[in-house]
Amino acid sequence: MGNRRVVITGGAGFLGSHLAEDLLSRGDEVVVLDNFITGNPDNLTHLPQDDLTLIRTDISNYINVDGDVDLILHFASPASPIDYLQLPIQTLKVGSLGTHNALGLAKAKGARMLIASTSEVYGDPQVHPQKEDYWGHVNPVGPRGVYDEAKRFSEAMTMAYNRYHGVETRIVRIFNTYGPRMRLEDGRVVPAFISQALRKEPLTVFGDGKQTRSFCFVTDLVDGILRLAESDYSGPVNIGNPNEFTVMELAEIISELGGLDLNVEHKDLPEDDPKVRQPDITLAKELLGWEPKVQLREGLEKTMSWFSKVV
Ligand code: UDP
Repeated sequence: MGNRRVVITGGAGFLGSHLAEDLLSRGDEVVVLDNFITGNPDNLTHLPQDDLTLIRTDISNYINVDGDVDLILHFASPASPIDYLQLPIQTLKVGSLGTHNALGLAKAKGARMLIASTSEVYGDPQVHPQKEDYWGHVNPVGPRGVYDEAKRFSEAMTMAYNRYHGVETRIVRIFNTYGPRMRLEDGRVVPAFISQALRKEPLTVFGDGKQTRSFCFVTDLVDGILRLAESDYSGPVNIGNPNEFTVMELAEIISELGGLDLNVEHKDLPEDDPKVRQPDITLAKELLGWEPKVQLREGLEKTMSWFSKVV
């Protein structure tokens, strides 16, 4: 760690900007590639700029980076359901063509590459909690298929470059993550509920709110990802917080933290919305000595305090 040159695709987004911050603080040089369709250069302005280069580009077309590259973190993609429903073609292109281009760059530079995959590769899971050896239950032609299949293709392409070209690759399957620098209008449940609570509006619960998710605070996620990047394991690894909550429980906790009585407005459940989701993190614990440290209330308090400055 330190003194490496790291390319982050999607580095101006939520996770990419946290990764950039951590790497810069370790003494690495960071090159961010982003087209800003869901990322924002403002996410990087608070960082020391000397070792940071920001290039506006669409990696689905072509990637050019001058000089040496030691590590590529491939994080470019819309990641919120409302974003990838509005940007279905871009989502498919960045997961397929963008991943291919990033792997080509890794091969040309002799760099290691880690891709951001997702718990969505498990779809609406029929195995619970989800372990890495579960192949998933995805509807390829449903509205979420554009994200799920792009990420599944991305994993397959990454393994092909690993096996056929000998590129050193890593795959992280990221479960629901939250924290500062998510967009207010992102549409994912944590920013949606927090911004609604701060505006004293009803919280929009989709369906009956009995569906579950397991929420990981961003600093824990970044720690797990950077440990995985250092490891010698090329198979997929789940990184997420295994504490599972219903969406209704999340609404109750956020209301309580906001000092409000629970006030929800039920809306239709989106098509193919997974009924349950919880990572089995046995592999990450054994391989990386990693487990999350920040529990939900503490993480939500930090996130609310950040959101209260921008709402
Ligand atoms: N959800 C909700 N209200 C919202 C946004 C999301 O009830 O305003 C629900 C959504 O239906 C899902 C869960 O919260 O069951 C998590 O949704 P999110 O969009 O954060 O991510 P997902 O895990 O579905 O990718």
